[in-house]
This record gives sequence, C-alpha cells and structure tokens, in this order.
Amino acid sequence: MEHGFKFPIGLKYENYIYCLMSLSMLASYPFLHEAVEYIKKNGPALDELMNEKAYGRARTLGKMRVKEALEYAEIREHDFSTETNQLMELLSYIAARIIVSCVNDSFLTRRYALAESKRMYLRLQNEKPDFVVMVGKEFGLDAEREEENIKMHFTDYLRYSSGIKNIEWKLVNRKIKKGYVVLTEKEFARLIQESLRKMIESELPLPVNDEILNAFKSDVSEIKNMTDARKKMFMPKKLGKISIMNFPPCMRHLLGMMQEGENVSHSGRFALTTFLHAVGMDAEQILSLFSSASDFDEHKSRYQIEHITGKISGTEYTPPECATMRTYGICINEDELCRKEWMTHPLKYYRAKGKKR
Ligand code: SF4
Repeated sequence: MEHGFKFPIGLKYENYIYCLMSLSMLASYPFLHEAVEYIKKNGPALDELMNEKAYGRARTLGKMRVKEALEYAEIREHDFSTETNQLMELLSYIAARIIVSCVNDSFLTRRYALAESKRMYLRLQNEKPDFVVMVGKEFGLDAEREEENIKMHFTDYLRYSSGIKNIEWKLVNRKIKKGYVVLTEKEFARLIQESLRKMIESELPLPVNDEILNAFKSDVSEIKNMTDARKKMFMPKKLGKISIMNFPPCMRHLLGMMQEGENVSHSGRFALTTFLHAVGMDAEQILSLFSSASDFDEHKSRYQIEHITGKISGTEYTPPECATMRTYGICINEDELCRKEWMTHPLKYYRAKGKKR
C-alpha cells in the first residue's frame, strides 16, 4: 500500500516474527514494527482510511483517543472482542496521529504522547517478562532477564532514565551488579513508557497535506476548540504582589519544568506547592501554574494542592528546608545568595531577595 502519509516509524524488532502476533496484540501495541508491517500489507490505503464508510469506526475511535488524552491524560480500553474491532482499534492509532498532526499544538501533542505511553505501560503490566524485554528492544533498550528481574548496562540505564526525575531513579539509589542495573519488570516498563512518550513527541506533528486536512476537517476543528478551551481554562492568572524574580533558583527550576511539561518528582511538586502557598498563592493560582504539565489532571492536582494547602487536610504544610531539598536532589542551580552561611530555607531566600530589590 502506497500513500502520502507517513505511518508511525517502525523500529527494529529483530527477535520477533510479526506473523506470530495476533491482531489483538498488534492493536494493543500499534507502534510496534509488526503492527506497521501488518497495516502496510493488509490495511487500507490512506485515502480509504480517510474517506470510506467502512473505516468510520476507526476514525471515530481515533478522535476518541485524542479526546481522552486531552481530558484525562490517558486512553481508555475499548471493545476488543472481535477481529473487526481489533482492526479498527489498530487503525485508530493512525487516525489519532493524523488528527494530532493536523491540530499541530504542542500542548496537545505532549498530552497525547503521555496518554499513549501510559496506556502501553499499563498493558505491559499484564505481559510476560520476555515480551516486555522484546518491546524494550524496539526502543533500543538493550536488556536481559535475570531470574525475576531485568538487567541493563548502567550506561543505557542513565540514557533512558534521564527524563524520570524521581529520586529513586538516580543511579546511586539503584541496585547494581557488575555494571548492570537490576530492575523489576514494572520499572523496566516505566523506562519503555518514557521512550514511547519521547518518540511520539519527536515524531508529531507529521506533515499533512490539504487533502488530509479536508478529510478530517470537522474532527480537527472539534479537537482544536477543546484544546484551546482547556488551555484557556488554566491560563496563569496575575500573581499580584508575588514576584517570580525573587524565587530561589530551585523553585524557578521546578516551576519551569512544570510549565514546560516535564515530569516533576513527587517531592518536587510538594516543595513547589508548599512554597507557592507560603508566598501567598491560593489553590486556584497554583493550579493555573501547574496546568501546562504534560500529565496535568485537574481533579488529581486540585486534590493534592488542596490537601497540601490545608483546605482538605486541615494541615498547612510548609516548604522543606534547603538541607531536605538537597537530600531529594531538588536543590538546583544554587547561586551566590544560596551559598551564604545563613541560607537554610527557600523562603529565607525569597524574603532576602525581596529586601535587596
Ligand atoms: S540553597 Fe536552598 S534556596 Fe538555594 S537552590 Fe538550594 S534549596 Fe533552593
């Protein structure tokens, strides 16, 4: 099948023969090389997928994938009971990528990449370890099974875990045997999730021509409106007298990461939320600032913020001291003021900087 649209990049998958994979497996892991090969050999041409009634369900499911990503930062399970449904599910991945490419909005792309990768992570939890290792190989994760665990060379580990900021992922906190980092199957699946997220973010948007834009016109316009509304809902409001210029480097860094949509560890979010609250922001303002995070979930974030700021728990938590920040690896970009002997707390920094100004 030849067409003008580029299908998802097929990665090398030396250890697996695609004909051994059932259609249901291909639909579950549509980014695999085998799934791409299957569509090339058996699937519709792009113009058929775009226009024919027979593929209407694939287009609808594709839009649903994007909508779920936008609303919940996750993609839900759909009906896989028949071969037709499995094929439609597989094709819906293509349709979703086309829609995201047509909308061409980095907020949506990040959100979609996160949702697809989260879904794969959850699915991998139910697979056999050998299969998980093989999926890892698709992303270049060179790993081997070792009894119940999976091991990978520490240099590879460093490369693939760099996007995960939680303290427990730091190399010093890992079990290492003769240069190999030992991971549970779940942890290894988390590394694959990160790789898939990065891969989708780097691939999208794909180039789309007028014909494609036209065929998906109404879907694209609906998703565009939803994306805009979602972004507008959480536009940072004015911060009044609060001056970000006076924030210590650690907090500026964490805030920047949140707003760039990078993953911020639990301890980082806690420190930032308590700090923002201490300098006078209310829960709504904090929520606004966090809304551009790639995994932003309004309901969950609101609950966490309201808990930390005391609205739900009745306890107003205070920001951690510099020493604790260091322990968690979130004392970042220390400057001259940070190096003063008396500097023990990010709030001290904020007040000192304010006086100086
Ligand atoms: S020394 Fe304190 S205020 Fe400065 S960056 Fe580190 S944690 Fe933040």
